[in-house]
Amino acid sequence: MNDKTEETHPLSRRRLLRSGAYAVGAAAIVGIAATGASAQVAKKASQRDAGYQESPNAGKSCSSCRQFLPPSSCTTVESPINPNGYCRLYAKKA
Ligand code: SF4
Repeated sequence: MNDKTEETHPLSRRRLLRSGAYAVGAAAIVGIAATGASAQVAKKASQRDAGYQESPNAGKSCSSCRQFLPPSSCTTVESPINPNGYCRLYAKKA
């Protein structure tokens, strides 16, 4: 094959190698993104470390915390979370 054929033939070896390299690069980026998501999940504090309890504290409870995710999750503390629970990471909803 000469250069002219390489440029005009849609399935030339050069084009296949080029698209293969792009595919490997894209897969690597997706892999890094997936690893980052897993790391975020792993960063949640344990209920013990957060001082989580199943009852409110001085009128403060998970249901009024900005980090609460109904019905029973939290952005920063491991699930399950009771809407009537409380922990030291409490942050009142605005
Ligand atoms: S008080 Fe807030 S941070 Fe703590 S467990 Fe409940 S929702 Fe999560």
